[in-house]
Amino acid sequence: MCGFIGIHGPDGADVAPEIYEGLLAVQHRGQDAAGIVTFTDSFHVKKGLGLVLEVFKQGNMDRLKGNLGVGHVRYPTIGGNHNDDAQPFHLTFPMGIAMAHNGNVSNYTELVERHFSNKGVRVNSSCDIEVILFVFATALSERARPGKAIDAEDVFFAVRAVHEQVKGAYSVVATLADVGMVCFRDPYGIKPICFGEKETAAGRWLACASESVVLDVNGYTRTLDIGAGEAVFIDNEQHIYHRKMADKPHRPCIFELVYFARPDSFLDDISVYKTRARFGQALAEQWRETGAPEPDVVIPIPDSSRDAALAMSLGLRKPYREGLVKNRYIGRTFIMPNQARRRSSVRRKLNPIKIEFEGKDVLLVDDSIVRGNTSRRIVEMAREAGARSVYLASCSPMLLAPCPYGIDMATKTEFVASGRELAEVAESLGVDHLMYLDRERMNAAGREGNARIEEFCNACFTGEYPTGDITVERLRAIEGDRTKHRDEVPCGG
Ligand code: AMP
Repeated sequence: MCGFIGIHGPDGADVAPEIYEGLLAVQHRGQDAAGIVTFTDSFHVKKGLGLVLEVFKQGNMDRLKGNLGVGHVRYPTIGGNHNDDAQPFHLTFPMGIAMAHNGNVSNYTELVERHFSNKGVRVNSSCDIEVILFVFATALSERARPGKAIDAEDVFFAVRAVHEQVKGAYSVVATLADVGMVCFRDPYGIKPICFGEKETAAGRWLACASESVVLDVNGYTRTLDIGAGEAVFIDNEQHIYHRKMADKPHRPCIFELVYFARPDSFLDDISVYKTRARFGQALAEQWRETGAPEPDVVIPIPDSSRDAALAMSLGLRKPYREGLVKNRYIGRTFIMPNQARRRSSVRRKLNPIKIEFEGKDVLLVDDSIVRGNTSRRIVEMAREAGARSVYLASCSPMLLAPCPYGIDMATKTEFVASGRELAEVAESLGVDHLMYLDRERMNAAGREGNARIEEFCNACFTGEYPTGDITVERLRAIEGDRTKHRDEVPCGG
């Protein structure tokens, strides 16, 4: 799970300042590393470990010239925490390509074996973008002819090669030196990517990004959500070529709507904010229909569950209260790779407002329960703050299966719900009543935003992987990689 942005600006413009703004807007998608690569007559690169604000200094920005550029923030789901793994990656053949992605290549190990091991070519990082870039560049070089410019057909040929060879979930942007910019989505469209335009006195600007908030903050109008298996190529004259390259069913990740994306974003034309409010309405209905105990107050676990908690409180006609105050200067709890550090950081991050808990039956609302550590600690906090009973509602069903598509839920044994009945999970979390949103209701809330989406990827809830190629061996390989790298502190997209 990462964030990216690609911009094709007017001649003479510099795109780096907008990429920088865009990366700040998607910092929530990855806090491990950040990078920008722009192009004039050569590539200009600045990448590093840390937050966007830490990586880029004025001097770097002054150096990042050019009207063509790509930026990336990284959250690792394959590989470790090394400078070598920071994106965008770039190559000097066949014409020079800089590339960034969001997602996870599920056949990474096989591709490294096929293209790199014993072939006289070295793999230079532990990041899966390197294999996507290699497959793309190799296919493009097959089409390169002396005296003939690379055109849209050549670029789409290379995208097809990626679709044929690279399995998993990936949304990709690449700038091609003296040729243009291409962005594409995997055949099932698991990871989001949107496209927008604006006109300024300097001319026309075209951009793609993982989340529409990037377009908003830079004043673009979102004109397209790139669909499953689709590619968009913009040539040097800014002609736009849009093509569907694969014919698989669209299965966007529901967990983006549940947790990852910012509420002010649209994904596949679905408002994240409205979807979360619908999750809350559905939770309220389910709470009542199942005869769950009446709470005195509804309290969100900040931040991602706020919109749902408010809608749930309205649905239950119970007051909504901000009972937990978050210290904004501490990174996302889950993102801390080491389990012990994660555990203690919950307390560092959240503090209860006691008067909202004292003597009350409190209903806490969270977006998801993964390992259960966060919820367990918060339930303890609620009791210490004087709550009489503590209930918990989750905006998503029980998480049960590892995600090989870029969400860091790699090891099955880590899920608190794994091998447990509802009552046992409730006991493990220490709550008096626990309810998970029913899976059908969750999907219906998503579909209401875009009726053209027949199904979302629900693999983390069901273990049914839409790409159909996720074997036990592949899951083990990803699981092994994540376990190995977690303790290093955190590549992947
Ligand atoms: P825990 O149950 O302790 O593993 O933490 C669950 C909390 O972490 C949820 O409330 C989410 O807000 C957040 N979360 C869920 N999935 C992820 C993920 N893959 N990466 C980062 N944070 C997550």
